[in-house]
Amino acid sequence: MSNSSRNGHLTKKQKSELMDKVQAERERIFNKLNLEQPHKIVQEAESGKDEVDSANDDILRRTELRFATRESLYLKKLLKTLELMETDDYGTCEDCGQNISFTRLKARPTSTMCIGCKEESERDEMQNYHGRISKSLGKSVSFR
Ligand SMILES: [Zn+2]
Repeated sequence: MSNSSRNGHLTKKQKSELMDKVQAERERIFNKLNLEQPHKIVQEAESGKDEVDSANDDILRRTELRFATRESLYLKKLLKTLELMETDDYGTCEDCGQNISFTRLKARPTSTMCIGCKEESERDEMQNYHGRISKSLGKSVSFR
């Protein structure tokens, strides 16, 4: 942590702008899920990292127990993003290790892949999907 030679490709200002966005989203989901006291958690977040982690863990556990919704998955992603933002890995593609552009992160701060890898993985999904379809079509054709 003392070594600050590698600090991602984002400027401090860009990073804090993205962080604000994610935190705002987190509060929005909190409110939506009727979780209590997001402000208290924000205060704890400012006072120390260990407390953030345990607060997040606690929220995750409670969320997991009570909600199996799209929102809770999104919330998980937001909390994970906030954790990642504490490290220098934020803004780096988990697939190819290249920088994810600030424009892309601004549109989707939870992105963990660069646009190239994301498109590729979506293409793969499509191919699998079509592969499955043509297989089942093949079956129905050979069925007489
Ligand atoms: Zn990539």
